[in-house]
Amino acid sequence: MLKLASLVERDSEYLAKLETLDNGKPFKSAIGDMYFSVKLIEYYAGYADKIHGKTIPVDGNFFCYTRHEPVGVCGQITPWNFPLLLCFLKLAPALCCGCTCVLKPAEQTPLTALYAASLVKEAGFPPGVVNIVPGYGPTAGAAISEHMDIDKVSFTGSTEVGRLIQQASGRSNLKRVTLELGGKSPNIILSDVDMEFAVEKAHVALFNNMGQVCVAGSRTFVQEDIYDEFVKKSVERAKKRTIGNPFDGQNESGPQIDQTQFEKIFELIESGKKEGAKLQCGGGRHGDKGFFIESTVFSDVQDDMRIAKEEIFGPVQQIMKFKDIEEVIERANNTHYGLAAAVFTKDIDKALTISNALQAGSVWVNCYNAVGPQAPFGGFKMSGVGRELGEYGLDEYTEVKTVTIKLPQKP
Ligand code: NAD
Ligand code: MN
Repeated sequence: MLKLASLVERDSEYLAKLETLDNGKPFKSAIGDMYFSVKLIEYYAGYADKIHGKTIPVDGNFFCYTRHEPVGVCGQITPWNFPLLLCFLKLAPALCCGCTCVLKPAEQTPLTALYAASLVKEAGFPPGVVNIVPGYGPTAGAAISEHMDIDKVSFTGSTEVGRLIQQASGRSNLKRVTLELGGKSPNIILSDVDMEFAVEKAHVALFNNMGQVCVAGSRTFVQEDIYDEFVKKSVERAKKRTIGNPFDGQNESGPQIDQTQFEKIFELIESGKKEGAKLQCGGGRHGDKGFFIESTVFSDVQDDMRIAKEEIFGPVQQIMKFKDIEEVIERANNTHYGLAAAVFTKDIDKALTISNALQAGSVWVNCYNAVGPQAPFGGFKMSGVGRELGEYGLDEYTEVKTVTIKLPQKP
């Protein structure tokens, strides 16, 4: 695994170019994804000889211990928004637990996973340990989730497909299922914040990766006394965002992934206008070719509008107004999702009250999208099942076996 990490590092520039060609994300971000991938492999490589059970003093005259055995063959189905990063986020913990993998990259972005397969070979993994199988969801993906010889599936993508995968497990062999699905994550801004700092953080929380991020801060709740100024500054920031050729280092955003997503985003923008949200900027196509969308900001968004409830997965920021903490907690939690949340405040008591009350797998205080290999990540409610990353992530790739041995009677 350490050899593999060094090979990914060696070829990171080439891999990042492939990723940008395939996905459209800015080259700088693609380089960041490669760096994260290397860290993931190195982190889990360190666990390979540190996974072990316990000896347990049970009732009676027995010697009892547990073994953490590999769960077996792992099917891994990944999306297109962070193609190679999510590929290693799934391969690395499985491999260090001793599992084998059949990984299907998203049909929009198979290139880096395929190149990574050649690195796996070069690193000297035995044949059959890592299998990269590109293909479409309803065929190759479904074959994995229905298969009787696959012991576990790990999936990242839409809630809709997450349901199908759990159903397929129920119909076939009850394979273990972990799901990392969507979100509609609240980002709560209290009136005591440093305005410039909070505006910038909320902007990046949403517009990063063209809004195509499961944890995107897509419900920005701003306290009423700073609301108007916050909206004004957020619009100024969005208008300054540079969009264009992702290989040009000046550009903060590239195109959306494909025509389907491009059209879905415009459909939701139209619904926002129709339902009475105030379109402050953007709302249209950027340029006249490709799938580029203007940075879009809606203010006066109400909780029952579609743009406040549905995952847009595009560069569209929703800014809502709230009065007090009790109210914003209730509104933030009033969703089927529960992936991430954030709160910005200088008041430690309020930060703790709000972060304890939010129903989300990750809560960030005065930061956003702070995800790394060492800490667990996953969803409450319909945002997912199970946890990835960190030591917690290992639990999903082992079966615990209890061995109990009768001891001789005491003389
Ligand atoms: P999707 O869920 O259809 O695709 C994700 C992966 O699942 C791909 O590899 C795909 O081939 C596979 N898949 C599709 N149908 C399958 C099936 N029946 N059985 C097994 N695997 C299957 O996502 P999408 O259609 O590309 O995007 C739709 C929406 O999903 C987006 O607008 C966004 O809201 C959400 N999404 C979330 C994430 C995330 O990071 N959680 C990533 C991508 C998309
Ligand atoms: Mn789909």
